[in-house]
Amino acid sequence: MMPLPIDISAHGAIILGNSVTCDGFVYGFPYRVQTHVHEDHMEGFASSKGYQDILMSEATRELLIVELNADIEYRSNIHAIPLGSRYRGEDVEVEILPNGHMVGSVQVAVTISGSTRVGYSGDFNWPLEEVIHVESLVIDSTYGSPNSIRQYPQEEAFDRFVELVLEKIRSFPVLIKAHPGTLQQALELLDDALVCPILASRKVIAEAETYRRFGYSFGTIFAIDSKEGQDAMSEGRYIRIYGRREAPPYEPQDCTVITLSAYMTSPNDPVLQFSEQSYRVAISNHADFEGTLEYVKATGAKQVITDNSRGGHGIELAMALKTRLNVEARPSSQVLSRCWGV
Ligand SMILES: [Zn+2]
Ligand SMILES: [Zn+2]
Repeated sequence: MMPLPIDISAHGAIILGNSVTCDGFVYGFPYRVQTHVHEDHMEGFASSKGYQDILMSEATRELLIVELNADIEYRSNIHAIPLGSRYRGEDVEVEILPNGHMVGSVQVAVTISGSTRVGYSGDFNWPLEEVIHVESLVIDSTYGSPNSIRQYPQEEAFDRFVELVLEKIRSFPVLIKAHPGTLQQALELLDDALVCPILASRKVIAEAETYRRFGYSFGTIFAIDSKEGQDAMSEGRYIRIYGRREAPPYEPQDCTVITLSAYMTSPNDPVLQFSEQSYRVAISNHADFEGTLEYVKATGAKQVITDNSRGGHGIELAMALKTRLNVEARPSSQVLSRCWGV
């Protein structure tokens, strides 16, 4: 078999063949796929706008319009393509499928010269209904360590989160911090149990509209500068949610702060308590270690590069893929080695 050109650039761009990058810019590549809107996947986006055709899902395009508030809506080189469909370029075909990480997020398969298939998982959740079928794969390694096996079902984390909010709201306002996607999932969880107004900035409220349009369901969120928002704050009984870069640098007094992330939480307890007023709950939209192995198996990939550029566990995951699945695997080195390609 011919060696396959997949790699990760010095700046974290995923390289699939000779013409497609994902979540990063490399000069000379005509296409970029934007897998989702999280910040660690937005590197070089301004350069890509100038030089590449950028492919993404409809929801990702809408979120970027709200988030970047720029010319995205009007640019002819930014293409929203339907999930499950294929975009045909010169000598290359790009397919995107949902990957359960957040609204609009996708896994990507690229067919080169009509036959060779290479792909990128993006940040993904597990299990998934549909998985790309590829020969070579770049895989996200966020929870790629054997220490990242969750011993509890996600539903337990959901229940514990709602219980914690209901308990804490009796005494103080509750502040919730989470990545985009996880935050809106939390709103859905709280919707049934809702006991007080939810407040946010107008930007977060505008983003919430996009989530609603793509199937999320939660009630009204009040702007902090609206009358309802001001009333709720003076009564001291409300939930405040924070968007990207909005959270205060220090914890205000007399409130409970709940951060949603599986980072550094225990494998057998979804709730980590820092103090009476500060908690982390392991609500995550990433597959854990076993889920990551299952995903690789489902893709059928025989050569795998583990993404070591976004702070995950690329080395441990590459070792596990070799021993457990018997596939050729190596962590990304962030230099354009092209050891399997041109
Ligand atoms: Zn992400
Ligand atoms: Zn990521």
